[in-house]
Amino acid sequence: MGIVVQKYGGSSLADADAIKRVARRIVEVKKAGHDVVVAVSAMGDTTDDLEDLARGVSPLPPAREMDMLLTAGERISMALVAMAISDLGFTARSFTGSQAGVITDSVHGKAKIIDVTPGRITQAIGDGHIVIVAGFQGVSADTKEITTLGRGGSDTTAVALAAALGADVCEIYTDVDGVFTADPRVVPHARKLDRVSYEEMLELAACGSKILHLRCVEYGRRYGVPIHVRSSFSQLEGTWVTNDPQAPSQGDTMEQPIIAGVAHDRSEAKITVVGVPDKVGEAARIFEALAEAQVNLDMIVQNISAAATSLTDISFTLPRTDGQTAMTALARIQAEVGYDKLLYDDKIGKVSLIGAGMRSHPGITSKFFGALASAGVNIGMISTSEIRISVIVDESVVDDAVRATHTAFDLDADEVEAVVYGGTGR
Ligand code: ASP
Ligand code: MG
Repeated sequence: MGIVVQKYGGSSLADADAIKRVARRIVEVKKAGHDVVVAVSAMGDTTDDLEDLARGVSPLPPAREMDMLLTAGERISMALVAMAISDLGFTARSFTGSQAGVITDSVHGKAKIIDVTPGRITQAIGDGHIVIVAGFQGVSADTKEITTLGRGGSDTTAVALAAALGADVCEIYTDVDGVFTADPRVVPHARKLDRVSYEEMLELAACGSKILHLRCVEYGRRYGVPIHVRSSFSQLEGTWVTNDPQAPSQGDTMEQPIIAGVAHDRSEAKITVVGVPDKVGEAARIFEALAEAQVNLDMIVQNISAAATSLTDISFTLPRTDGQTAMTALARIQAEVGYDKLLYDDKIGKVSLIGAGMRSHPGITSKFFGALASAGVNIGMISTSEIRISVIVDESVVDDAVRATHTAFDLDADEVEAVVYGGTGR
């Protein structure tokens, strides 16, 4: 039988008992005749705690040392899981990301995997061992330094390993039963999805669903790795992320549901550049300055200029964490561009409706905006893709907007389906 790759998140590894429970689960798969490779996250809130610790020592810790510190969290988990497995009479070998052959670029804190050379893993499997790999980390091909993949990166480690090893499936174990039609903390009647396409999952992840790391989904799509998101606290079938129409699904494989879900995001801010002269090259200059400052942009809106003044406003959203950098970069070009002033607003939220079925169904937008209107929610900005409609709203009404939309599209389950088994939500 083939290779199964599993990933256990921090809430599944919160303490010694949790680790023993995970070890039993891993051993079951081995007993069933599979080779097992497991990527682990740091225990519980370890990564947050390490970040806090670093900030207590230094306001701006060097990125290299930050990566050295944070990778320790996953090393603790991998060794403990391997110990627990050996107590069950099986042998396990733990490897750091670097030992496992996870090769990255050299960007500390958000490195990208550029190759996986799993020689030591295949050898250990061949010797009959269960393999445990520290998630979220790798080694730079250029600098030989240890890197991290960005918060939540263990998912990406797991999918990258699954792709490199040609695994049958990558199982992502978390503290909920799968991917839901909305965040169950906001919508208690959210429904579990049996199956979701890579494209829909990419949009969900990009729009604030934290269940899977965005890059893990990109990786899965590129290499065709079926991802099974499920709970480590139950035996229930979770959500399959795949484009394979044969994949397990309870029923309606003939007709795809129109809407996969409603996602929300409270991590963005909005900047408005007020009074930009309406002439060639101004927008280019503004976004050039932002690109040079390495700021990631999301939605962009330019109003038509007022006839009397020939001045226009340009607004865009960006991660709040990039807010200061962006404001500084823009302030520097004020005289050159000749705009009037900058406005910064971080009391915003984004609500997105996602579904591959909306391509062929008219009236989705009007229903969405109608639901928002009935809930008294004012729309600040709008952007769309082929399978997504997103709006920016006031931060204080995000929950209302999500619930109203969820109900309007008949996504509410009859009873509460979502159980949040663990985790502190940190
Ligand atoms: N421990 C890291 C984090 O908390 C990586 C992960 O959990 O995937 O972000
Ligand atoms: Mg995590």
